[in-house]
Amino acid sequence: MTDLTPPAAERHLGTSDIAISPIAWGMWRLADNGRSAGEAARLVHAALDAGITLLDTADIYGFDGEGGFGDAESLLGEVLTAEPGLRGRMVLATKGGIRPPLPYDQSPAYLAEAIDASLRRLKVETIDLYQIHRPDILAHPQEVARALEDAVASGKIRALGVSNFTQSQIEALVHFLDPPLVTTQPEISPLRIDCFENGELDQAMRLGLTPMAWSPLGGGRLLNAESERDKQVVAALDLVANAQGVSRAVAAYSWLMAHPAGIVPIIGSQSAERIAEGAEALGVRWTRQDWYAVLVAARGEDLP
Ligand code: NAP
Repeated sequence: MTDLTPPAAERHLGTSDIAISPIAWGMWRLADNGRSAGEAARLVHAALDAGITLLDTADIYGFDGEGGFGDAESLLGEVLTAEPGLRGRMVLATKGGIRPPLPYDQSPAYLAEAIDASLRRLKVETIDLYQIHRPDILAHPQEVARALEDAVASGKIRALGVSNFTQSQIEALVHFLDPPLVTTQPEISPLRIDCFENGELDQAMRLGLTPMAWSPLGGGRLLNAESERDKQVVAALDLVANAQGVSRAVAAYSWLMAHPAGIVPIIGSQSAERIAEGAEALGVRWTRQDWYAVLVAARGEDLP
């Protein structure tokens, strides 16, 4: 019943000197439902006041299939214009490389254009972490690396990451990239456990990448389990949640954070109370037995 090592209260983005909180807040749904800049500011304050300093957005957030590209970034830009002091309190992460109606474009010309457009919408001079959102199969990694290096050299970007890349796509980009890659952002949750056994997290540890987990509650499915397998996962999480007096969502974040790769869950809630509650995950302790019980429930079969 040995306790796992508690997550570090402060860390850095990969091997960079950029200090981050061990849990992030995501703004995928920030511009939904006509949210005003005042309401968005309340959410930003909720995250920062709870010590959640890594804020994750993307140029595509707000896109509804026809329009809205850039809306989430623009809304955050309004918040930062109204309260410029907020900028220095956050590590600002965004993403680009998805280009509707194409699926993806990471040609050097488009990436340079996309980075400038994100800076304009966010109304900032520098993006702390720029991530390629999804890999463009038609872009040579050497060309992508060159475009990203140019943006770093000109001071537009401080650090670089990827999302939804395969391990070999990461290897290829890292091979050509001069500044270190600092993050990878796959989907990870107690309902999406591939990366624990497919080598993704091993690669992150080997390369010194911080894994940022998107949809850490399975997009909310963990709060509304329907299948027998999902219910088993929920039961294993609830045992720990109830014993330690936290919510199931907090138990799920802390389960991810107990992994030695230093997974940073990205809270997806757009409720000030639920964002702030996420910070409690730092105080939850896992034993090996309880941790493996969640994994086994998610696998649907025992480990060998
Ligand atoms: P999630 O945490 O798995 O799901 C969040 C959803 O669960 C929200 O709709 C939230 O609703 C709901 N929810 C219900 N009960 C909740 C509770 N007790 N606590 C918290 N949430 C609860 O995360 P996600 O929104 O799918 O993704 C999180 C972030 O990951 C995004 O904002 C984005 O930054 C990133 N992301 C990245 C990619 C990528 O391809 N790189 C893809 C998807 C997401 P309320 O808002 O009402 O709380």
